[in-house]
Amino acid sequence: MSQVLLEADQIKMYFGGIKALDGVSLSVGSQTIHTVIGPNGSGKSTMFNVLTGFYRATGGHIAFCGKEITGSAPHRISEMGMARTFQTLRLFPEMTVLENVIVGMHSRIRETFWSAALHLPSAANEERVAYEKAEQILEMVGLSAKNRQPAKSLAYGEGRLLEIARAMASEPKVLLLDEPAAGMNPSETKQVMELIRKLCQRGLTIVLVEHDMKVVISYSDMVTVLDHGKKIAEGAPKEILQNEAVITAYLGKRREHHA
Ligand code: ADP
Ligand code: MG
Repeated sequence: MSQVLLEADQIKMYFGGIKALDGVSLSVGSQTIHTVIGPNGSGKSTMFNVLTGFYRATGGHIAFCGKEITGSAPHRISEMGMARTFQTLRLFPEMTVLENVIVGMHSRIRETFWSAALHLPSAANEERVAYEKAEQILEMVGLSAKNRQPAKSLAYGEGRLLEIARAMASEPKVLLLDEPAAGMNPSETKQVMELIRKLCQRGLTIVLVEHDMKVVISYSDMVTVLDHGKKIAEGAPKEILQNEAVITAYLGKRREHHA
């Protein structure tokens, strides 16, 4: 067992009468790919928003790097080394690919970057450092050739890679990705999943949220399955694929869908 980096204990998140999460615990091992799957509406994005501090849980506790972060603001959690993407693209379309990455850097380096852009002389060196760092990250995600293009010129799959690049700019310990392959074709999906694997091999811990289990399961070290706000299964991908409760949750949903 690897060391636990992120731990959620008995998380409850109620919206009025809706129990979006009803006592979900999660233990994410350092340098693993931990995937949270479940049918639509099962509470995955809610869990994501609770872990990253965007929602304040109705109940339960969260610890990150051994420190309690329950109720902490998103920027505090981000400063501690947690980065995220959103289910829908949130890029700055008119800015270049490179600038979109620089936006993701922590405020100190970002501020010096912008003061350099305004030709304040002392910041010239930091500006170069910021550029170099952004270029390295773009190299890693395979977008180097597009550095100077506006983000709006990217294909959809490239935009999603850029979002990951921007999240990496904050030098996180853990990266949470909400449906990173949503809307992607099979080859784009493979590309993003291979990138995620590479990031994990380089020491990053990944929490993936995904509704289509086929897409991510072969890349995951550990899988947690949610249904109606509760954890119905947890284990290695192989076990999850054979789990009765998981099969029923998915097939049940699919039948409703086609009815
Ligand atoms: P998933 O990401 O698994 O599709 P969500 O976490 O988005 O599911 O939603 C789980 C449940 O919580 C759904 O019933 C959804 O309508 C409800 N929900 C999520 N966010 C809110 C919110 N901000 N206000 C009210 N209900 C919400
Ligand atoms: Mg969702």
